[in-house]
Amino acid sequence: MRLSDTLTGELVELPAPPAPIGMYVCGPTVYARAHIGNARPYVVFSWMARWLRERGHEVTLVHNITDVNDKIYEAAPGRSAERAREATAWYLEDVGGFGLDEVTHTPKVTETMDEIVAFIAELVETGNAYAVDGDVYFRVATYPEYGKLSGQRPDQVAEQEPNPLKEDPRDFALWKASKPGEDTSWESPWGRGRPGWHIECSAMAEAILGPEFWIHGGGLDLVFPHHENERAQSCSLGRPFAKVWAHNGMLRFTGEKMSKSVGNVASIQDVLGEWGREAALLFFLTGHWRKPIDFSEETMASARAQVESIRNAFRAPSTESAGDETGWDELVAVLEDDFNTPAALSIMHGWRAHGRLALLERALGVFGLASLARDVEAPESVRALAQARVEARRAKDFAEADRLREAIEEAGWQVRDIADDPGYRLVPHA
Ligand SMILES: [Zn+2]
Repeated sequence: MRLSDTLTGELVELPAPPAPIGMYVCGPTVYARAHIGNARPYVVFSWMARWLRERGHEVTLVHNITDVNDKIYEAAPGRSAERAREATAWYLEDVGGFGLDEVTHTPKVTETMDEIVAFIAELVETGNAYAVDGDVYFRVATYPEYGKLSGQRPDQVAEQEPNPLKEDPRDFALWKASKPGEDTSWESPWGRGRPGWHIECSAMAEAILGPEFWIHGGGLDLVFPHHENERAQSCSLGRPFAKVWAHNGMLRFTGEKMSKSVGNVASIQDVLGEWGREAALLFFLTGHWRKPIDFSEETMASARAQVESIRNAFRAPSTESAGDETGWDELVAVLEDDFNTPAALSIMHGWRAHGRLALLERALGVFGLASLARDVEAPESVRALAQARVEARRAKDFAEADRLREAIEEAGWQVRDIADDPGYRLVPHA
């Protein structure tokens, strides 16, 4: 499989299966209900992990939780730890609604503090960082490649977190001395305080995946400064770190209703509640992971319509011989070429139109959409036949009941008797 790499701007070939693939995907800072834009990296990289597993790789997918941060202190003064715990549960519940379940580890900053402090101490020891008044800063001048990931010239890198204590305006905080109003802090060789955001990910990635791993994912908005800084911290200590930097495009709120709505955001919870997981997943399929994707009433309505057209295909009887998977390679080719899901979706619609249901069902499974083939409600005409059969059996007219069973099977359904109302269950004919 080839994947676009932000660092080189080229496609990088992943090793052949069954080579193990480590993936680290930056997760949310937890202080409120996450909005639907936050779901994109979760969905995209869960799908990639799922596909790599389907291809025979052993995948470790790490998706962290940033549960110490300025935003949390601001959102819940005096009870930041409690808010972080609540919002972690909200996030896991919300993304759990997609039914993908591919993440192997969900490390939290508060549970990785020893590794973070040790990482900073090593940077201080090697001269890549310095302590001032209880803060510790990364010394950007010691890392000549700084700016390469985000494409900035080293002498033009924007100043981060202005502070007169820094040697160089480009330097950024690894450890921040505890300030009034911050209700959590940890012991360190530099005094009580808490880590900066960037060092957390360097430490959590290494703690689980080791000094080198294949894919580092996250939204395009994280390239600078977050990922530039992660890379500087890890690579300046000689860790090879990520071999591919994969950044998903942003979700844009567009359309008349969305652009007028207050705050311009919809939470994951709102979207899953209003449109359902299948339409939400199909919506994400329509965009190439590297490109922006437009979220609106119109694009979601279109995703819902596509969901229905696919489900409808499984309502009709298929003439395809079971297990005929000629053509699967077509899907493999587009996914192995930079994980092109819009191209995959168009192949899937072709299979739908031609009644290639075995192929379509297998492809839906790759994206967590197998329910479209399985949770199919039978059409009204078939349910009427099943109801008539229940009545025929009650009247002990077994010849009529058998005739109705055959009619149901001819329509592509199987009827099973159950004790509960309405007395039958319909499943698509195998
Ligand atoms: Zn991160």
